[in-house]
Amino acid sequence: MKIFVVNAGSSSLKYQLIDMENEQVLAKGLCERIGVSGAISHKAADGRTYSADTAMPTHSEAFEAVVYALTKSEAKVIDSFDEISAIGHRIVQGGSIFPESCLITPDVLSKIEELGALAPLHNPAHVLAIRACIKTFGEEIPQIAVFDTSFHQTMPAKAYMYPIPYEYYEKYGVRRYGAHGTSHRFVSDRVAVLEGKDKRQIKIITCHLGNGCSITAIKDGVCVDTSMGFTPLDGFMMGTRSGTVDPSALTYIAEKENLSPADVNRICNKESGMLGISGVSNDNRDIAAAAEAGNKRAQLAVDMQRYEILKFVGSYIAAMNGVDAIAFTGGIGENDPGLRKTVCESLEFVGVKLDEEKNQLRGQEVKISTEDSRVNVYVIPTNEELAIARDTLAIISK
Ligand code: ADP
Repeated sequence: MKIFVVNAGSSSLKYQLIDMENEQVLAKGLCERIGVSGAISHKAADGRTYSADTAMPTHSEAFEAVVYALTKSEAKVIDSFDEISAIGHRIVQGGSIFPESCLITPDVLSKIEELGALAPLHNPAHVLAIRACIKTFGEEIPQIAVFDTSFHQTMPAKAYMYPIPYEYYEKYGVRRYGAHGTSHRFVSDRVAVLEGKDKRQIKIITCHLGNGCSITAIKDGVCVDTSMGFTPLDGFMMGTRSGTVDPSALTYIAEKENLSPADVNRICNKESGMLGISGVSNDNRDIAAAAEAGNKRAQLAVDMQRYEILKFVGSYIAAMNGVDAIAFTGGIGENDPGLRKTVCESLEFVGVKLDEEKNQLRGQEVKISTEDSRVNVYVIPTNEELAIARDTLAIISK
């Protein structure tokens, strides 16, 4: 059975075709500049590639280009789209409405659209993509929504509420929703397997560190707290995002510089974090190289990010009254031994002991703590597309 996984933005569309018999990716690709011009780059599992500049005024033309790439191009992997059993969509915001993945019905689609108020950059694009799929592939093929927020819906109110007047929660739904939930779920499920334990009996902290970063506390198999909040800006510093900042500092700057709320939003989302502090780049590799070469602001960015990660991990150990396993994932979590070492060294007080040699490994699943470490520490490459495909398969099999 083949599942088509879609991760659509307003001007881009990432996709994978996964064969669920062996969970292997048959092909993956990216459409870019939708609504502007249009380009597709597509790669089959055996290395064949296809790329083209094709007009994509809307997501519908993008999907038509994908169909061509999959079924007719020099990198084709199937004869017809009819071979595909279902489509799984990554949806950024499910609000408090969607505690789990579900079949997309007209009612679900309109709810995803309404939740665009909470994720204006993402949900409207998902809706466009779902409608384009209906247009391109017909109404027969099941489409499944997998929400970044679902995994975090188990948080208790004491963890998801902000201490501001209650009416803003009631009127506008202002609360912590979290993000990266599909990744945290995938990684924590994998940790439970590696630990050889029922996930309902262990305490796990998952650190998803990529361009966006979040940390989640998972107890008895469910999320009890997470660092991202009302939006994916909350938490700790990321590539270009600030994470939590004293709101008074922001209103002070806004007054001084005559900035609108939209300006502040842009500055905190696009000009802050590792980029804002280092002045070098948002990319960890560039910042590490600059720090190595003696750039003090780059070094400060590195130190700040590691310190904030450590504080979140520490606070979640307290929140869960202990921890059995910690996992690192995402581009940075999977590839930055220096960051993992700094964080783990300060966790010696809970019995973390790092295996320095194993910690040097990058981009692969490995336990990086020693055999006598009281807390097991893992690197687990995340695979959100596979998680989406698995949910999609589970729902259509019901
Ligand atoms: P996204 O959140 O966009 O999916 P990724 O998970 O791909 O991002 O993570 C991107 C980050 O991972 C970048 O900061 C990049 O520098 C970092 N990264 C990727 N590969 C390496 C590496 N080999 N060493 C250090 N950092 C890396």
